[in-house]
Amino acid sequence: MTVGDTGLVLVLNSGSSSIKFQVIDPVAGTAVVSGLVEQIGEPEGTIPDHAAGLHMIHQQLLDSGIDLGAIRAVGHRVVHGGTKFHSPTLITDAVLAEIERLAELAPLHNPPNAIGIEVARADFPDLPHVAVFDTGFFHSLPQAAATYAIDRDVAADYGIRRYGFHGTSHEYVSRQVAVLLDADLAELNTIVLHLGNGASASAVHGGVAVETSMGLTPLEGLVMGTRCGDIDAGVLMHLRRTAGMEVEQLDELLNRRSGLKGMCGINDFRELLEHIAAGSAPAKLAYDVYVHRLRKYVGAYLAVLGRVDAIAFTAGVGENVAAVREDALAGLDGLGIVVDPDRNRTGKGARIISADDSRTTVLVVPTNEELAIARAAWEFV
Ligand code: ADP
Repeated sequence: MTVGDTGLVLVLNSGSSSIKFQVIDPVAGTAVVSGLVEQIGEPEGTIPDHAAGLHMIHQQLLDSGIDLGAIRAVGHRVVHGGTKFHSPTLITDAVLAEIERLAELAPLHNPPNAIGIEVARADFPDLPHVAVFDTGFFHSLPQAAATYAIDRDVAADYGIRRYGFHGTSHEYVSRQVAVLLDADLAELNTIVLHLGNGASASAVHGGVAVETSMGLTPLEGLVMGTRCGDIDAGVLMHLRRTAGMEVEQLDELLNRRSGLKGMCGINDFRELLEHIAAGSAPAKLAYDVYVHRLRKYVGAYLAVLGRVDAIAFTAGVGENVAAVREDALAGLDGLGIVVDPDRNRTGKGARIISADDSRTTVLVVPTNEELAIARAAWEFV
């Protein structure tokens, strides 16, 4: 049997000015073609809208020589599923309308997701289209973890609760941990640290998410490339009163001019490490704040879970920056967490990096959200 004999899935991730795509063999777990169309709707670009962007993707797929007839489903990444969508959902007109309505909760993300779905349904009208939600895995959060301590009528009226994001990655990685350790998922307590441009932590008990660091929006929690993560909400009122900042300015400040970038002007971690090596004090402080926050979350989730079998690092920083893994878990021997420096600094791909006598197994587990989406969509074929 060769790749694609059983069928392929087209996975689309539509952002405001880009569409990422992969054609995946969900059974073999391999990507057959992948690519990215950028600068959609930007003045300097030549692609006026998402329909034109998808048209280019269609052409690239034809040029790639794969058998388009083998594509049996389209999987769409959708950021916000609100309280309604918990699991991968076959897209109908009503489902699409609901995804558009949820733009209220995710104004930057759901509108381009919905447009991507709309144009893809027009281009591939005979295929099932499946939405996979970033929030889905965190539907299971216990009420005590999901509820903000504010006036409950206000919370109810405006859908204010913790939804969590990066769920596809947290679910995929927590399951991979069980596979790698040859352990029963139902028995496993895992902390997943997804450290990319966006960053989030989760606590997973028996395959079910019980805590996560992102909240109503992907702004809460860890320090990120350009987002501040946790902050005293009083800062917003203070800046409103003293600096006269409007809501759009505050939004821009906390989402785009904060995090690593805000503290030292650099949001790319590779560059950050170069600046630290060259002696930059702001870059070093930004790194220290980043690592300190990560340690706090690990400690908090140890307490939430009571016993932790595994801690898994994933995404761009989690998979590639040994120093972050080492520094975030340094000195936790007393809690049963011992990273082996050699294992941590050498090797590639999925692997164990803790010492043999570490009670908690520490791992690097590459994430693969596209494959998880492809497999979810495949269930509908
Ligand atoms: P996202 O999917 O959220 O855009 P990624 O998971 O690709 O993000 O992570 C991007 C981050 O990972 C960037 O800060 C980038 O610098 C960092 N990164 C990726 N590869 C490496 C590497 N080899 N060494 C250091 N940092 C890396």
